[in-house]
Amino acid sequence: LSIDHRLTLDYELQAGWLQPFVNGLQSGSAIARRCSNCHKTTFPPTRVCDCEHVHGEWIHLSGKAHIVHRSEGADGSFALVQFEGADTKTVVRQLAMTDSDTVGYLQRTINLESDSHFFADSEHETSKPAIGLPQLIITRRCNGDDNE
Ligand SMILES: [Zn+2]
Repeated sequence: LSIDHRLTLDYELQAGWLQPFVNGLQSGSAIARRCSNCHKTTFPPTRVCDCEHVHGEWIHLSGKAHIVHRSEGADGSFALVQFEGADTKTVVRQLAMTDSDTVGYLQRTINLESDSHFFADSEHETSKPAIGLPQLIITRRCNGDDNE
């Protein structure tokens, strides 16, 4: 017997150490984590660096993302990007981008609640859910063409 049960979770209580990153997304800022040992900058931030160091600082990136690869899916347009100032690449959703665009800009995350994979641990409904990452969205710069 299995019973479908829809969860609602208060993510504000759960973001934990990721809170600066999540707050940044809600205001349209790219907040990355820089390891205090090897200075590797991760965006989205990783808690434990590749060098196994856990301490770091939060830094503001420009929000500009260089597109490495793009793909069109049934549920939207996605791209592998590297944010300016970050040493890591990540997958983002593209909005209003064209094939000729080589850069995009982080857009404010409008509705985190609709991000079903933000907390995806449905196996343990009564315990603390696992924290996933809110979906990152890039779009064209609103004002004019800024082709650097
Ligand atoms: Zn490190």
